[in-house]
Amino acid sequence: MPTETYVALGSNLKQPWRQIDRAIDAIATLPGTRIQKTAPRYRSLAIGPIPQPEFINTVICVETRLSPATLLRKLQSIENRLGRRRCLRWGPRTIDLDLLLYDQYIFSNRTLTLPHPRMLERNFVLYPLADIAPHLKLPCGKYLPEVLANCNPDGIVRFDAGETRGSTR
Ligand code: ATP
Ligand code: CA
Ligand code: CA
Repeated sequence: MPTETYVALGSNLKQPWRQIDRAIDAIATLPGTRIQKTAPRYRSLAIGPIPQPEFINTVICVETRLSPATLLRKLQSIENRLGRRRCLRWGPRTIDLDLLLYDQYIFSNRTLTLPHPRMLERNFVLYPLADIAPHLKLPCGKYLPEVLANCNPDGIVRFDAGETRGSTR
């Protein structure tokens, strides 16, 4: 049986909208993997200590036969192919692909933590996730609407259906 997973995508360099398109196309060609749903995109202000351009973020629902470790490795090789450079933690990037959820797995080792350890703090993750999975049950036992009720929408704006790029180049 394939597993239902959720992947967060973010980009704030070199035509972010296009980088997200390219990453989704690449994920769609992974072996044993199918994209089930794609959330609307959000424009979000960068958080953290490094001044940098705003991001485009979205979330996709992916059905896969790949193991969590293999899926993460494949996502990282897509990041590398799209020119991701890891010089500064939380710095600007052409593409960031985070594995948010792998079914109901709770797991942590040196390279992979599931669910993604910071997903519940991030409105640019929770809002698009709720757009495609409004009633999702999280491995911690909470439901997404409960988490979202405590999540501040400041700093993010959803693109309207059909809108491309907006003001983000
Ligand atoms: P954040 O993790 O806070 O979103 P980031 O995405 O900028 O920050 P990266 O530099 O992309 O961080 O990743 C750092 C490491 O996180 C990776 O080397 C990867 O092994 C590890 N990691 C652990 N759990 C996950 C996960 N669920 N999804 C993606 N990477 C993960
Ligand atoms: Ca990230
Ligand atoms: Ca990452």
